[in-house]
Amino acid sequence: MAKAKTHKAGTRSPFPAPARLALLGMIGVPYDENSSHMRGTAEAPRAIREALASESTNTWDEEGSDVTTYVRDLGDVSFTRKVDPFYQIESFIRRALDHGFAPIVLGGDHSITYASVRAVAALHDGLTILHFDAHPDLYDEFKGNRHSHASVFARIMEAKLAKRLVQIGIRTANGHQREQAKKLGVETIEMKKWKGKVPKTEGPIYVSFDMDVLDPAFAPGVSHHEPGGMSLREALTAIQSLPESLVGADIVEVNPRRDRSEVTAMCAAKILKELAAKMFASIQDNKPATS
Ligand code: MN
Ligand code: MN
Repeated sequence: MAKAKTHKAGTRSPFPAPARLALLGMIGVPYDENSSHMRGTAEAPRAIREALASESTNTWDEEGSDVTTYVRDLGDVSFTRKVDPFYQIESFIRRALDHGFAPIVLGGDHSITYASVRAVAALHDGLTILHFDAHPDLYDEFKGNRHSHASVFARIMEAKLAKRLVQIGIRTANGHQREQAKKLGVETIEMKKWKGKVPKTEGPIYVSFDMDVLDPAFAPGVSHHEPGGMSLREALTAIQSLPESLVGADIVEVNPRRDRSEVTAMCAAKILKELAAKMFASIQDNKPATS
């Protein structure tokens, strides 16, 4: 049997020692069984960790903190057969939340967001999900799979896990998905109308970042190349402009098998650092005063 490809199998973690002030937990979800087109995203957590630890750069966010001082690597979900994978993912993230960690989840294909949002929504009422993606992922089912990565936000909205779902960067909505968006009350900011502004929100925010929202020129290592997308800097600016109420996030759909010179993994690591910075600021702002 092939060995599970987790960072424990030899990849250097960017977080060698327990962080001094670990408030955020990084969780790998090496799972790609709900991909519709090709496999490979299960290898992403390992590739993103390697990019984070790369000696070609450092581990500081652009706000001026070293992420290794406030993020702890909690490892990968290791899947047991015969147990619902979504249950295993959700349980792992719930445990992290129970221990006081705000989760940054590394997919995996986009289907894993269902389990992650379930875990976070159990703790935070009235979530707004900001979903960056080339695709709406709103199919009622895709190729017979209701848990396809192309259906994840239909399931999330049906389960009423979010107060609001705002999709940003969409450029592949077909008739069925446009109907689904209406039916499920989804707000869509299509890429053609994107002016770099994230709409005003109230309450806790969860960001789900599908790497294919970026133009394939920036991030070729994804299963579904969709030209006409965002630049990495536009995405970073959007994240940096969010209010300080980010309570959870995921980065999904990196496919190392299609990457070129690890550039997509490096982009994912960059997104991770800026999401982490925003979450760190959010948690500090929401901390009860101690004096
Ligand atoms: Mn997606
Ligand atoms: Mn996508």
